[in-house]
Amino acid sequence: MPCTLFISDLHLDPQRPEITRLFLDFLENRGRTAEGLYILGDLVEAWIGDDDDSALAGAVCAGLRDCAGSGTAVYVMHGNRDFLLGKDFATASGCTLLTDPAAIDLYGQTTLLMHGDLLCTDDTEYMAFRGMVREPQWQQAFLAKPLAERRQIALQLRETSIEKTHGKLGSIMDVNQQTVVETMERHAVQRLIHGHTHRPGIHELTVNGKPAQRLVLGDWYEQGSVLECTPAGCQLQSLGMS
Ligand code: MN
Repeated sequence: MPCTLFISDLHLDPQRPEITRLFLDFLENRGRTAEGLYILGDLVEAWIGDDDDSALAGAVCAGLRDCAGSGTAVYVMHGNRDFLLGKDFATASGCTLLTDPAAIDLYGQTTLLMHGDLLCTDDTEYMAFRGMVREPQWQQAFLAKPLAERRQIALQLRETSIEKTHGKLGSIMDVNQQTVVETMERHAVQRLIHGHTHRPGIHELTVNGKPAQRLVLGDWYEQGSVLECTPAGCQLQSLGMS
């Protein structure tokens, strides 16, 4: 049966090589059996530019390129960590960059794909930060800095983010229900797939007066998490580390 896979929030990082191995193994095996693989943001913990010469960036690009080369259509959406993935990355990895949100036809049902951070509208501090780092001028100025300086800034941003996250209520960092419904109604969809919140689950809701589903992908910290969709339906699965 044809199948399409969705993953997000791998947060690949040189400090967690076991997760990188799990992902590369996933690309080599499961990834090749799918007709489509969608990576919905935060593939890596930090992306400091397509000219990054780190071993991790090289391994990720090579793994994606092999998977795409095997015939799987691989799509990548920006997350809040890797919003600088650019055209050169797409060329090197054989992936297609997706806008956020993106609507696709998933076995006959229009499905909206998002990273998920745009749904967390209660976190006004984060939304302001997001606005800043998505400005072309901010990105150009950042990318013009030497790699070593960019690495340093990425580390600082990450520490600030951890501090801010610890001070926030869990509910603030989850999706805003009204934003979810409004977004789905605006795009006229009854199904939404997103990540970001690290709260995997399948939620039933009402959109446009009709039953709808919100499928949330899990993160790759303790294990892998994948949503497998076939013409028969979608299923959330965990991937254990061997
Ligand atoms: Mn995220």
